[in-house]
Amino acid sequence: MVIDVGAGILLALWGMNHFAIPFTASWIALGIFAALFPDLDTLTRFLPRGNIIRRVIGEHRGLLHRPLFYTIIFPFVFFALGRAIGTLFALGILYHLIHDTFFLGWGIKWLWPFSQKSLSLFHDKDGRLTKEILWWGPEEDERIESTYRTDHWVRAFYFTVNPISISEYGALIIALIVLAIHLHFIF
Ligand SMILES: [Zn+2]
Repeated sequence: MVIDVGAGILLALWGMNHFAIPFTASWIALGIFAALFPDLDTLTRFLPRGNIIRRVIGEHRGLLHRPLFYTIIFPFVFFALGRAIGTLFALGILYHLIHDTFFLGWGIKWLWPFSQKSLSLFHDKDGRLTKEILWWGPEEDERIESTYRTDHWVRAFYFTVNPISISEYGALIIALIVLAIHLHFIF
């Protein structure tokens, strides 16, 4: 989550240079929004059970975490919003799906709908990263969850010094420094 904000800022800055877009806060916000976009599915649980949006998107790590879904909608985004926004949106989401494949993410169904298997690399166990490559189907969801679930994971990873918190906060700090340099706040 923290690293997503940093990644969104860096992608937006790259997009500004690449597409010669003048700096605006809304462009930076768009980069952050794109990098966080798949996690909007966490909000579906606040909708009534029979709600059409909830039924189509599903729960967290549902449709918005399926790579092939985006290959279908990206052409429409590019057509409707243009190449610069389309590229930023695509890169933000691609980054998010790759990030969710590692460590804290609960894996991504990269081959959906042709396969229901999720891929997770170096997932944590009891608050420590493993070297394991997990590739499992829905029938094993419960076993994977009970084996690798970390209760209080926010505290375990974000409020202690560990490789995850160092890389997450480090990426955000680097992004903010690059942003400050770009705005000539420093140097
Ligand atoms: Zn996610």
